[in-house]
Amino acid sequence: MPTIFEQIVDGEIPGRIVHETETTLAFLDANPLARGHTLVIPKDPYERLDDMPADIASDVFSVVHELTPAIEDAVDADATTIGMNNGEAAGQEVPHAHVHIVPRFDGDGGGP
Ligand code: 5GP
Repeated sequence: MPTIFEQIVDGEIPGRIVHETETTLAFLDANPLARGHTLVIPKDPYERLDDMPADIASDVFSVVHELTPAIEDAVDADATTIGMNNGEAAGQEVPHAHVHIVPRFDGDGGGP
């Protein structure tokens, strides 16, 4: 059974896509913790960081590196929280590896 993120990659369900490469996809989180909350995923359905070959993990984090300042600019954020719930015990709900980029604003309280 494909995960919801695989279905977004395959175009079977809509995603608000903000960036795409041959190996990665970035799209807005459906239940954002803040305006501009973005998820960056490998297109192939690796469940956890350690399931990804190093070159794919590098592609994902290279996109995180590229998109973070653009997202901050787009929503006029003061900072970002970047994180990954890597495994169920860590709170990973969708078993397709993803990195959260969450815009942060002065005075918005604690991190996720
Ligand atoms: P996790 O807890 O696995 O680290 O985060 C999963 C994230 O995926 C959550 O922030 C949740 O809001 C988001 N999410 C779950 N289902 C969908 C969906 O169908 N579309 C999008 N864009 N995001 C989703």
